[in-house]
Amino acid sequence: MADTKPYVGRFAPSPTGPLHLGSLYTALASFLDARARHGFWLLRIDDIDTPRNVPGAIDSIVETLDAYGLHWDGPVYYESQHLADYEQALVRLQQEGLVYPCICSRKMLAELASVGVSHDIYPGLCRNRAVIPSSQPYALRIRSDERDIVFEDKLQGLIRQNLGAEHGDFILKRKEGIVSYQLACVIDDYLQGITHVVRGFDLVDSTPKQIFLQQLLGLPATSYLHVPVVIDSHGYKLSKQTLAEAVTLRSTNVVMFKLLQLLQQKPPVRLEQASCSELLDWAVRNWDPVPLIKTHAIQPEIN
Ligand code: GLU
Repeated sequence: MADTKPYVGRFAPSPTGPLHLGSLYTALASFLDARARHGFWLLRIDDIDTPRNVPGAIDSIVETLDAYGLHWDGPVYYESQHLADYEQALVRLQQEGLVYPCICSRKMLAELASVGVSHDIYPGLCRNRAVIPSSQPYALRIRSDERDIVFEDKLQGLIRQNLGAEHGDFILKRKEGIVSYQLACVIDDYLQGITHVVRGFDLVDSTPKQIFLQQLLGLPATSYLHVPVVIDSHGYKLSKQTLAEAVTLRSTNVVMFKLLQLLQQKPPVRLEQASCSELLDWAVRNWDPVPLIKTHAIQPEIN
């Protein structure tokens, strides 16, 4: 049956700093995928992890997207304005007995991991704890189960993960009271009516958790396409932690040309001096993510 739902895509940066080449690369991929399908492209600011927010980052992100001609549809969506929606979802999962309080500290789990009790998998210590001392701060975890989560990533192919065996119960709300990225993302994608998620390969491991939450909450499934992450000369993903520099707001067309090359779009040489908007016009008409199939990381040529 033909897919009649309109395409709705999004770019969802966390305001932890200005956009660098890697984040702009992801933004561009999601923009092109949406516009090539005559879809909507929305901007969401993932700003609930407040200790990581950097003052001025939102303005800088918005200014950069504008300078590169990546114009989004409608108003900007801020996660911080949807705390009640996340709470509502949490209550629902709690009422179904799917959530439990967890007092384990990172330190304690790391110690257990070091003696081989568990590695990345939460060993379920608090799963059946009858009483939590009221004075103790606790996180909320979701009970994962033994179902296989299977999805077809448009670039990475069929992905199958057993959350129970491979991840264990994961956190929905941290001890400091901050809702986890996994839960917030699922609710946001639903509230924004997102049909297509295009994001970096570093998040592919989050997708089964998000699909699991969608299934528990009875929310519609989304389609996924994980593009490679841009790595530096040491093989590390460009990020604030690896001190990736902000993309320039001058000579944006030079950067745009390079980004299209990194997306394996082969922009013609005659467009080397073209403006960002001409480059985007060409790129929307010619968008083809297929050359990126099964690629997890991409390294810009060192000049
Ligand atoms: N806010 C996340 C990040 O900046 C991306 C979320 C997503 O695309 O699902 O890494």
